[in-house]
Amino acid sequence: MTSVRDFRLEFLGTGTSAGVPCIGCDCPVCRSDDPRDRRLRCGAALRFIDSTGDPRTILIDIPPDHRQQALRHGLDRCDSILVTHAHVDHIFGLDEVRRYNTLMRQPIGIHAEPQVLEALHRIYPHIYAKHRNVNVSYVADLFDVELRPGHPILLHGLRIEPFRLLHGRLPILGFRIEAADPDGLPLPEQPAPLPAAWCTDVSAVPPESWPALRGLSTLVLDLLRERSHPTHLDLDGAVELAGRVGAKRTRFVHMSHELGHAELASRLPDSMAPAWDGLVIS
Ligand SMILES: [Zn+2]
Ligand SMILES: [Zn+2]
Ligand SMILES: [Zn+2]
Repeated sequence: MTSVRDFRLEFLGTGTSAGVPCIGCDCPVCRSDDPRDRRLRCGAALRFIDSTGDPRTILIDIPPDHRQQALRHGLDRCDSILVTHAHVDHIFGLDEVRRYNTLMRQPIGIHAEPQVLEALHRIYPHIYAKHRNVNVSYVADLFDVELRPGHPILLHGLRIEPFRLLHGRLPILGFRIEAADPDGLPLPEQPAPLPAAWCTDVSAVPPESWPALRGLSTLVLDLLRERSHPTHLDLDGAVELAGRVGAKRTRFVHMSHELGHAELASRLPDSMAPAWDGLVIS
């Protein structure tokens, strides 16, 4: 059966909202020589060949560092964007996607919940109401696609299931990603590293979302720091949750400067590790 092939999950950024190093900080992690301790804001690219043989790139979130990330990873197209929530560290790179419009000569679908799309329209009037710009200007060309938790979509041969996560009191989205047949059903044999789930900025998984975390090859999970935090998982909480999910491998993201890569990696169970900017799982 035809399916996606050469699937790559590329970690464009694995840092918390302030990035690592933090401005004006001289802690050991911010001064570290280990390149894995340099973390841009959190986002990913799903890159693969679709069933018709065309290359595809789907972005998860569009952080303020997107330009730098795109150059580092050699991104030259963007077929769709999935947005988890409308916090600054996840959406303030949206201006940069105009380059993909130029390269591909087509608009880009931005997939998010209605309240997130509303926020984008409010924050980016120069993109969404470009007729009001004083000068004709070079801005992104986007179209909205509404997502609802529990309602999977078919994107370029991938089945993407948005599911509910709690970011403190804020409801946001996680995504389950797997290869699909032409009817949009998951293929029985998934290419590595699928099925995968992307769960950033999470403090709790509500009961209705647990089925979306079944049988994962790859879990990507928030792990802010060792100390507890009201809107993110701490070290114990993230390890406990990852253990309950039981994915073949778990990679942690959205880490602050309180976590050094090497030291954290040495303390985690075998199937778990911190991700790092530039990591590719294929
Ligand atoms: Zn965040
Ligand atoms: Zn620091
Ligand atoms: Zn957030």
